[in-house]
Amino acid sequence: MELLNIKHLDLQDKKVFIRCDFNVPLDEYGNITDDRRIRSAISTINYCLDADCAVILASHLGRPKGVVDSKDSLAPVARRIHQLLKRDVTLAKDVIGEDAHLKVQNLKSGDVLLLENLRFEPGETKNDETFSKTLASMADIYINDAFGVSHRAHASVDGMTQYFDDSTKAAGFLLQKEIDFFAKLMKNPVRPFCAIVGGSKVSGKLEALINLLPKVDKVLVGGGMAFTFLKQLGYDVGNSLVEDDLLEDAQHIMDEARRLGVKFYLPIDVVAAQTFSADSISKLTTSQEIPPGWMGLDIGPATVRLYREVLADVQTVLWNGPMGVYEMDKFARGSNKIAHFVADSYATTVVGGGDTADLVQRVGLDEEMSFISTGGGASLELLEGKVLPGVKALLSE
Ligand code: AMP
Repeated sequence: MELLNIKHLDLQDKKVFIRCDFNVPLDEYGNITDDRRIRSAISTINYCLDADCAVILASHLGRPKGVVDSKDSLAPVARRIHQLLKRDVTLAKDVIGEDAHLKVQNLKSGDVLLLENLRFEPGETKNDETFSKTLASMADIYINDAFGVSHRAHASVDGMTQYFDDSTKAAGFLLQKEIDFFAKLMKNPVRPFCAIVGGSKVSGKLEALINLLPKVDKVLVGGGMAFTFLKQLGYDVGNSLVEDDLLEDAQHIMDEARRLGVKFYLPIDVVAAQTFSADSISKLTTSQEIPPGWMGLDIGPATVRLYREVLADVQTVLWNGPMGVYEMDKFARGSNKIAHFVADSYATTVVGGGDTADLVQRVGLDEEMSFISTGGGASLELLEGKVLPGVKALLSE
């Protein structure tokens, strides 16, 4: 089964609904601080406009939880799309209300309409049937280009797709690219293949880790999740983040790695602090001897050197999760160094996860990676081997 291809759609003079992921970060003044997600959607939008159709764009932003909240309005997004497309973009005052309906009715080929934040409507996250049907009634064609929410069975991702048949729905270029990249990575990676996993907890990445083990040659662990493994090995981890209920799972993962011949690396030293704050005093300790009351917040310099050696011969790298609390400069050094090694390697480098993408961007290395996924949760679910609801809805019958 294949994803329905946008190139097989007859778009001319149609009203085309494109579900995008414009959930971009905003600063306290409402300015967009990172517009990668909007830029990533432009090729699909332009393709449709070039085919002489009218485009209805829809997205969520933030977490308004089914009520209208002006701070989550898509107005800044409308302005940025206008700048990027160099065309007028009309923002509807609502999602399926009177204003949206009137504006949809008056759409002509070449027009671009952006609906207000989908999550202003409670029916969106509930995958509500009436809401899905009303959304679907606005358009002749449905396109999903929102990889970042494709793991959610929401109305605009899942529910409304049932009102379109195979000739009137498809995946946009971004969704297609993300799915192709991960499929190739999981089926046919050039070896040696190394997964770098970090971030806060084992629980969020347990399934992905288990699914990855039979496919990779090496695993490098960092971030808070390392301490559950280190505690299971009997090390003194002080006050570091540990999930005690997952100690057995951690053991199972290490046993599986040994059984499969996967080289499984844990930090050998850490930057430890007394409190979880940027101005806490800190010191280097070995992973075996983190003093009581101290917590590991970054990988240490010996681990950085070790991981550089490990990465020297790899041909494919998948990186999901920072090596430390990279939001605080003091604990960002491990993640920054690893970002440089990954970028400098001759491997195919794939970065998944919002935090990892963010840290790679902060060090200015985003152009150096082969592929940065626009979806953290969605890419993790792909790595877990799941079929995403938004993808399932667009597989050819
Ligand atoms: P995740 O969403 O699970 O990928 O986790 C990302 C978060 O993990 C980031 O906000 C980091 O600050 C946090 N993190 C990384 N290392 C640690 C650590 N050693 N202790 C606590 N939190 C960490």
